[in-house]
Amino acid sequence: MSHDFPPAHPFDDDKLREECGVFGVVGVADASNFVALGLHALQHRGQEAGGIVTHDFETGFNQQRRMGLVRDNFTSPNMMASLPGPIGIGHVRYSTAGSKGQTAMRDVQPFFGEFSMGGAAIAHNGNITNADALRRELIERGSIFQSSSDSECIIHLMARSMGQNIPDRMEEALRKVEGAFSIVAMTRTKIIGCRDPLGVRPLVLGKIGDGWALASETCALDIIGAEFVREIAPGEMVVISEANGVQSHFPFRPAKSRFCIFENVYFSRPDSILGGRSVYETRENIGRELAKEAPVDADLVCPVPDSGTPAAIGYSLESGIPYAMGIIRNQYMGRTFIEPTESIRNMGVRLKLNVNRALVKGKRIILVDDSVVRGTTSRKIKEMILDAGAAEVHFRIASPPTAWPCFYGVDTPDRDKLLAANMTADQMRDHLGVDSLKFISLDGLYRASGEPNGRDTKSPAFCDACFSGEYPVKPTDMIAKGFKPKVPAE
Ligand code: SF4
Repeated sequence: MSHDFPPAHPFDDDKLREECGVFGVVGVADASNFVALGLHALQHRGQEAGGIVTHDFETGFNQQRRMGLVRDNFTSPNMMASLPGPIGIGHVRYSTAGSKGQTAMRDVQPFFGEFSMGGAAIAHNGNITNADALRRELIERGSIFQSSSDSECIIHLMARSMGQNIPDRMEEALRKVEGAFSIVAMTRTKIIGCRDPLGVRPLVLGKIGDGWALASETCALDIIGAEFVREIAPGEMVVISEANGVQSHFPFRPAKSRFCIFENVYFSRPDSILGGRSVYETRENIGRELAKEAPVDADLVCPVPDSGTPAAIGYSLESGIPYAMGIIRNQYMGRTFIEPTESIRNMGVRLKLNVNRALVKGKRIILVDDSVVRGTTSRKIKEMILDAGAAEVHFRIASPPTAWPCFYGVDTPDRDKLLAANMTADQMRDHLGVDSLKFISLDGLYRASGEPNGRDTKSPAFCDACFSGEYPVKPTDMIAKGFKPKVPAE
């Protein structure tokens, strides 16, 4: 996914979509401005809606939620003046569980709850895999839900907790939750960050002057001029206040970390740091691995902009085949024109991308893309390249075949819509109509991601369920609905 605004893929139901970004800050003047900037930097993680909650001691908690982009909603002086105070959190979302694909206002986070010891707001990135079961139980015991979001369960679990303070209640609530969660929450004086025991989704800590920030990615720290301190560890909870700084503890049973490997391929911005490594560098490594695993005689290596760019550069460097911009992206194409029908979706590719005819004519082209999901975009791009007179088209894909849905906070089509779930690699090649189609192996992706020995099959270092069908956290609700993982989940 390219990370510009408006969203880079008006046709992007052919991409997996990260569904949320979270941000929080404490100990700064006018926290809402910092939160808005942080959310703007995280806009690639969710473009349908956003919200900010702040607190100051004169007006108490203040909250604003809007459909649409941060820059269109959280920039006016009036709006920002309505969110006063030195502490605030925010959330951008596509949509996780709940109003799938069409965010309803009531599902826009942060969620807010008033407890006997004061209010708390919570913003969640990830997906709770036992939310249906929890919701049923909570409703039976009298909870009244305001939204269809899985994340609201956390507020109700906190309301039922006997903990003496908000962090204790949050801890107790999160012990009942299964799945992936990177959470940023706030009380009147504290921001709280927490990652699930496997650390599936990212969360980082930054320092800004005397204050502190929490964010899904380091690019959101950069935009506010905060110094990147460290990643919040899997299973760690940090409680941060101006008075006491960062207090860390580990409330869950220790587990081996299983960070989402697709963040390395595509979701995170290339200028972010993950696991101590630049995402850009990892993506370039993926391209190098691809070139080793799947060489082919050709004249040019071209990225599918923008998400394929670092991998295409890596492929070119490793293979010695020149890199060139064979496809040019129209910078100013938004989603405004696009209705989600098949015919318009196809047109969307042309509106968004154009082939550099003079460059590709008569050439054998290697096209590097991050993933193949439904294959609709890949087919269209291939047609455009051939129409422009290319002699051959070879697709090289910077991820293994995406054959399984994600249940940890990423929007994936149903399995019957995933090309790789229904076809072999050769069938996909024929379906796309290209001269060759190769995906990086799972081992190659692990090597590029800093695991020199590839994937340890007994104890993998990452979540790779969308490629392997091995789910590190049991997708309880989906199994109850009849879903069968490839490897039975524990
Ligand atoms: S299933 Fe795929 S997209 Fe989802 S968390 Fe795991 S690696 Fe990431």
